[in-house]
Amino acid sequence: MGKLIVISGASGVGKGTVVKKMMARRKDLYFSVSATTRPPRPGEVDGKDYYFVTRERFQEMIRRGEMLEYDEHNMNFYGTPRAQVEEKRAKGHVLLDIEPVGARNVKNNYPEAELVFIMPPSVEELERRLRGRNDTPEDQIAIRMERAKWEMAQRTWYDHVVVNDDAGRCAEEILSLIEK
Ligand code: 5GP
Repeated sequence: MGKLIVISGASGVGKGTVVKKMMARRKDLYFSVSATTRPPRPGEVDGKDYYFVTRERFQEMIRRGEMLEYDEHNMNFYGTPRAQVEEKRAKGHVLLDIEPVGARNVKNNYPEAELVFIMPPSVEELERRLRGRNDTPEDQIAIRMERAKWEMAQRTWYDHVVVNDDAGRCAEEILSLIEK
């Protein structure tokens, strides 16, 4: 069975790009596709980036015990459907892009999971990147920055902390950490 690799980091830190670079370098990595009640952003594909579901459907999945973990943040539900993780883990290592509440739940259920926290070069740079993405409404920026500060404070209990100064370099660093 492959490893469970949890990647966390504040919104805007560039996790998505780092994850894509990791997957381009290693063919035995599989991305865990989360379910969310958040609407898709331009370019996001249902079933690839997320499973976009209604609140009713999400709650039904919780009730049926289909979520490996879930959390409500940024006014939406996000969760990891259990079945696909088990399926992918039979083929290779599984990458989960989830925030600290979910990461803690994964670690409690799977102590062997490797938790990696990605930090921005600075808080100013994070805010600049978040605005630069142009996909987050202004009233959401302040909420996301508050949340980001709380998330960054959680890095102390992660197994590894890496800085995303360059996505390719950061991806290499994570790959070498998890190979050890
Ligand atoms: P976004 O809305 O920017 O795609 O994601 C917001 C946050 O939700 C990110 O920190 C991301 O890591 C987290 N997230 C995405 N999927 C899941 C999930 O399945 N479970 C949990 N707990 N968090 C998730």
